[in-house]
Amino acid sequence: MLLPSLHDPKQVLRLKRTLLAIAGGGLHTVLCWIFLEWNFFRATVQQFIYLFGLFWLVHLIFPLLILLGVNKRFKDPSLTFPQMAWATICAMITIYYIYDLRMVILMYYPLVMVFGAFRLHLNQFLIISTMAIIGYGLAIVFMEHNQVEILNLRAEFIRWLCFSVVVTAFAFMGANLSALRRQHRKQSRLLSEAMEQIKHLVVTDELTGLWNRRYIMKVLKTQKALAERGGYSFSVCFIDLDHFKKVNDLYGHQGGDLVLQKASQEMSGRLREIDFLARFGGEEFLAVLAQASEAAALAAGQRLLEQVRRIEFGGELAGLRITVSLGVAVFIPGESVDGFINRADQAMYQAKKLGRDQLVLAGREQPTSGPI
Ligand code: GH3
Ligand code: MG
Ligand code: MG
Repeated sequence: MLLPSLHDPKQVLRLKRTLLAIAGGGLHTVLCWIFLEWNFFRATVQQFIYLFGLFWLVHLIFPLLILLGVNKRFKDPSLTFPQMAWATICAMITIYYIYDLRMVILMYYPLVMVFGAFRLHLNQFLIISTMAIIGYGLAIVFMEHNQVEILNLRAEFIRWLCFSVVVTAFAFMGANLSALRRQHRKQSRLLSEAMEQIKHLVVTDELTGLWNRRYIMKVLKTQKALAERGGYSFSVCFIDLDHFKKVNDLYGHQGGDLVLQKASQEMSGRLREIDFLARFGGEEFLAVLAQASEAAALAAGQRLLEQVRRIEFGGELAGLRITVSLGVAVFIPGESVDGFINRADQAMYQAKKLGRDQLVLAGREQPTSGPI
């Protein structure tokens, strides 16, 4: 039950920080023990043990909460604020018991504030510093009231005043550091989001959301390398919308864009997860069919052809029917990527010549001339 918490790096970090804070508590205890031994601590050994027993009871609750994962239910799972509040209470209680050397505790107290830098908000810092200021003030009042020590009240007041100024300054500085840290975190999050967006933009076509030409060329190179290692074949479909100029003329450029988007969506839906569909140019698309021999490629081409025929448009485009012409080519090991696309493009051109709305399988011979 304890271990799951330690699998989470954030929890491990929180635990480490808490153990560091506890080490501070240990230092405080050792210091006060030395004071007790040398008669600077106004308590019996038994009173000392009761007092520090109570301190440690609470100190140890924090790492336990982290180990059990209970801390995650709190707004600040690092438990920084309650740990600092408890350290402040402990420090201020011991001030009451220490003769003469109270300054030592006051000198060490800012370390508690440092613990909260990077994490606490200003109001939390102000609560902690107010607790310290009031705590020290109360310790002086009780010492005077109980007459446990002859106090130089003026000197004590000046010490209290200086302590108040230093602790308040620490609160503001710490809060500033925290704000900077939060800002830095936000900026790095925005930056990584922007990087993700850029990565996406570099490989996709803005209008259709399909892969872009740059990316599909990379895919083709990878597929070619795979095919040339042997035992693997792949194919492409070069797809061109028929009479698309007329669509633009009839429905305007925006209408044409809608048709491109719809056709892209419908064709993507007819391909397998392992295939890639890219917008190659204006109204031209290239489908890379991974692990597809001639028969599989022809079947995939036929599916695309039929899917486009079936598209029904709504709104302003209601009643519009579109078709595509397709050139299918199976990769021949050794040929260049450009030559391969050229063969598919030529086959598509043949399909146009044969009357459009059909597919043609590319021959194995490289055409003597072509559009690429
Ligand atoms: P064919 O059947 O021979 O392919 O005829 P076509 O009209 O489809 O071919 P053509 O090459 O003559 O015209 C293609 C048109 O595609 C011309 C161009 O305005 C249009 N086009 C290219 N890119 C876009 C685009 O991003 N949006 C829109 N709406 N139209 C585009
Ligand atoms: Mg074209
Ligand atoms: Mg066209």
